[in-house]
Amino acid sequence: MINGHELDGNALVVQIRAWGHELGFSQIGVASVDLADAEAGLQAWLDAGFHGEMAYMARHGLRRARPAQLVPGTLSVITARIDYLPRQSVDGWQAVEWQRLAQPEAAAVSIYARGRDYHRVVRARLQRLAERIESVVGPFGYRVFSDSAPLLEAQLATRSGLGWRGKHTLVLDRDAGSTFFLGEICVDLALPPTEPVAAHCGQCTACLDVCPTRAIVAPYRLDARRCISYLTIEHAGPIPVQWRAAMGNRIYGCDDCQLVCPWNKYARRATIADFDARKVFTSARLLDLWVWSEAEFLHHTTGTAIRRIGYERWQRNLAVALGNALRGTRDAAVTQALRERREGASALVREHIDWAVAQGGST
Ligand code: SF4
Ligand code: SF4
Repeated sequence: MINGHELDGNALVVQIRAWGHELGFSQIGVASVDLADAEAGLQAWLDAGFHGEMAYMARHGLRRARPAQLVPGTLSVITARIDYLPRQSVDGWQAVEWQRLAQPEAAAVSIYARGRDYHRVVRARLQRLAERIESVVGPFGYRVFSDSAPLLEAQLATRSGLGWRGKHTLVLDRDAGSTFFLGEICVDLALPPTEPVAAHCGQCTACLDVCPTRAIVAPYRLDARRCISYLTIEHAGPIPVQWRAAMGNRIYGCDDCQLVCPWNKYARRATIADFDARKVFTSARLLDLWVWSEAEFLHHTTGTAIRRIGYERWQRNLAVALGNALRGTRDAAVTQALRERREGASALVREHIDWAVAQGGST
């Protein structure tokens, strides 16, 4: 009995999975709301301060492990996975990415961010999935999430069999690697949970070893404060000087721990056009992006997740990357371009420009 209807829960989950696939999701699972055994690990992570300035993480505290408190009445969580590797990715795409990272003057933007803002894409598709469920079970209570701080997304995903938690803390799967987004629908329907899958990291430590800032301080333990993804996207103030050189040419996010992961040879390309990469984020040089005015930044990033960080953080990140390029090349054009934007820049960006110019040996 579901929502007062004579419905077989297992059959309904099969139906939800089929609808999910039609909507572009590569996998759908169901998790129960009991995440009590994840609470100790969450508390230890918060106590260690590993969440950095992501105050919303601390604010939500242990409620993140209690979906029924977040959305009262929740009895199950439908979990979903959607592949994001851009459709035009070539075979051996990891080599292309390593090559870009090895070119100091090229701009490296994390793969997931090169297309449309996934928050919107995933939520809109989950909403449509919920409406299809409604057409069968009648009106019910639900709320959709994607990359949402209040929920322990990775826990819900692993419990419901969307993959296992890799040592880099992301969810990964034997048939899809880790290049996918997660989303959830909290529902007030009692659905049968789907089974978790076994972990397959084994003795591998490739992600820990490759991390430029050693942010994976131990297997399954990420100190967000030193993770380049966090520093370039979430972190609002100055980038701590000790991590600037390690950022290299990464101006938005970091993919290294995923590029090196052996399971990503099975990464799947997206089936939807939304995640197609915009050319400007795959082929631009740092200097091309540095000269953007705020209006140009807003224009080029319309509809992407990149826009969320705003122009100031964008310039801050670019200044660090240009400084790193300058250290090796001493390219006078880079120094000049940095100096030209100093006037009119915010105090935060100015400090990063000064640091960058100093990397070329002049002040
Ligand atoms: S995203 Fe980059 S900095 Fe962060 S843990 Fe992975 S490799 Fe390290
Ligand atoms: S790189 Fe190795 S240890 Fe890290 S997530 Fe992949 S398989 Fe696991």
